[in-house]
Amino acid sequence: MRVDSELKRRIEWAADQAANRQEELLALLDRLVSYPTVSPPARNTALAQREMTGRLEELGFRVEAWELYAGDPIVVGTRKGSDSSRYRSLILNGHMDVAEVGDPREWTKDPFRITVEDGWAYGRGTADMKGAMAAALFALQLLKEAGVELGGDLQFHSVTGEEAGEAGTRSVTEKGCTEGYDYALVMDTSSMAIQGQGGVITGWVTVRSPVTHHDGMRSRMIHAGGRTFGASAIEKMMRLVAALQDLERHWAVMKAYPGFPPGSNTINPAVIEGGRHAAFIADECSLWITVHFYPDEEYATVTREIEEHLNRAAMADPWLREHPPEFRWGGRSMIEERGEIFPSLELDPSHPGFSALAASHRKVLGTGPEVGMSPSVTDAGWIGRTGVPTAIYGPGQLAHAHAVDERVQVEELVRYVQVLVRFIAEWCNTPKAGV
Ligand SMILES: [Zn+2]
Repeated sequence: MRVDSELKRRIEWAADQAANRQEELLALLDRLVSYPTVSPPARNTALAQREMTGRLEELGFRVEAWELYAGDPIVVGTRKGSDSSRYRSLILNGHMDVAEVGDPREWTKDPFRITVEDGWAYGRGTADMKGAMAAALFALQLLKEAGVELGGDLQFHSVTGEEAGEAGTRSVTEKGCTEGYDYALVMDTSSMAIQGQGGVITGWVTVRSPVTHHDGMRSRMIHAGGRTFGASAIEKMMRLVAALQDLERHWAVMKAYPGFPPGSNTINPAVIEGGRHAAFIADECSLWITVHFYPDEEYATVTREIEEHLNRAAMADPWLREHPPEFRWGGRSMIEERGEIFPSLELDPSHPGFSALAASHRKVLGTGPEVGMSPSVTDAGWIGRTGVPTAIYGPGQLAHAHAVDERVQVEELVRYVQVLVRFIAEWCNTPKAGV
């Protein structure tokens, strides 16, 4: 370990500065919140991401940027350590898009300026998650001022698209940026608990008839002697909806994962679309479902289970047997494709990155962090599935995220800066395993 007394002294100095210079932190947060990067409609993060690029470059990062969608660039900053092959590397990940504001008249504060009142900073994105982004930038600024050198590499992801199932982080991993990193923090809203998460995948189940029948044909399709082999796609979809409920109940009984209330693995029939006009038998019906699964499950396995179950249900129906349902899973955007995937994330409390983060947290807050499972989903699963050990750890409460008068406690934000200062400085100056 390179964490000698001189480094410790510098870390203490930086942590003290975090407490003494709250105004700077709040000014930085105000700056980030002032960009109305709401999603949907999205396509509005270019200016905010330019600001992030500038700040990362000032902090010594080499920045790579590309457009996820026009007007929504992804920014990845990488800063080589002084002895990369020897010391541990770290990824800090966050998103710059924020949830819709809704009716601004419901807000008592300006959503795009910071208002500080009774120790809380109000504004859209303060909890989810510009508070974390400002805190991380401030922590890096303080480490720089303290003259703390990092042995290992540091990578900073400022992504977009998270709020609309447009996983900017997925595109970062697909470019191979995260390869070889020793640990990753996704700084999304967790009340400074260290968390894993379940996964979410959406899908479309479609029942389609090759023939379009007039409404007048109905009696011949459903009554004795009609001798017309046809069906209403809507009525057949009802069979499949019932079958999904059976599977959902079966999962609730048979599957479980620590940290989740039983039955969290739901299959929600969220949207149904079908039929063309009252003068026709419905020849097409599509069901949009949202599937929640546990951290030890892969989305591809879960969707295969659903397909097998529905195909078996279809086999029990004479018409569906000949016209089995079609499936379309996931998607890269709720806006463009009406589909999304959030892979799950298991947490490994025996990993040295977890222990180091927990130790930094304990040092700053006096007690160990809460450890558990996020009731929500973040981009963390995308990094985790590339093999980089990952944890969700961020300031702010989920109850305030996406809410009217969104807010974060200023003291929590300061504490978060202090934990990051320690964790980054110590982790990136710890030799890699086996070195
Ligand atoms: Zn978020």
